[in-house]
Amino acid sequence: MSLRHHPSDQALADYAAGTLDAGRALVVATHAALCPACRRTIRAFECVGGALLDKAEPTQLNPDALASTLKRLDQAHVDTAADPRIGNDEFAGPLSAYKLGKWKWLGPGVYRRSVETVGDGETSVFLLKAEPGTRLPHHTHSGPEWTCILQGAFRHHLGRYGPGDFDEADENVEHTPIVEAGEPCICVVALQGKLLLQGWVGRLMQPLVRL
Ligand SMILES: [Zn+2]
Repeated sequence: MSLRHHPSDQALADYAAGTLDAGRALVVATHAALCPACRRTIRAFECVGGALLDKAEPTQLNPDALASTLKRLDQAHVDTAADPRIGNDEFAGPLSAYKLGKWKWLGPGVYRRSVETVGDGETSVFLLKAEPGTRLPHHTHSGPEWTCILQGAFRHHLGRYGPGDFDEADENVEHTPIVEAGEPCICVVALQGKLLLQGWVGRLMQPLVRL
């Protein structure tokens, strides 16, 4: 598998530090499971974090520091050894640990499926499936949108995105992805804020998106 698009160093550092919400951590973990280069970078950030902690001056902690840190770890880290009874057997890798909703029609050729994570409520996590040749509505975001492609491929103005590729878009990006011919494209998406659809198809679909 030749991966062309990777998370930013900042995203990998935040993942290594355990400061991402569960949704964004899942999308980074899905990419990292397929990308040896990013796994090495994450390990390097983890080592740097550990070294910094070793050198830090001891300080007085709040009495509930351990409990709140453990709670954050529970929420932020992807537990690939999760109970299989609450996971799914349709997808390999980190996604297999999560319960998935049913595919729901979102618009012409486009379907959405929820991913149940213990999120902070600000990030929506879902699978998006688009039929070959679908032109997704022109859209912008009110917050960052992180995507990892599981199957198929799409293109937008920044290039081609195939299985394992990571697409990190923020509120300044406007794009119109087009799904390649062949097989449906399935992605796992973590979206903070709202997806803002434009154009008449977008306005038609907006009430259906409910993000
Ligand atoms: Zn990578």
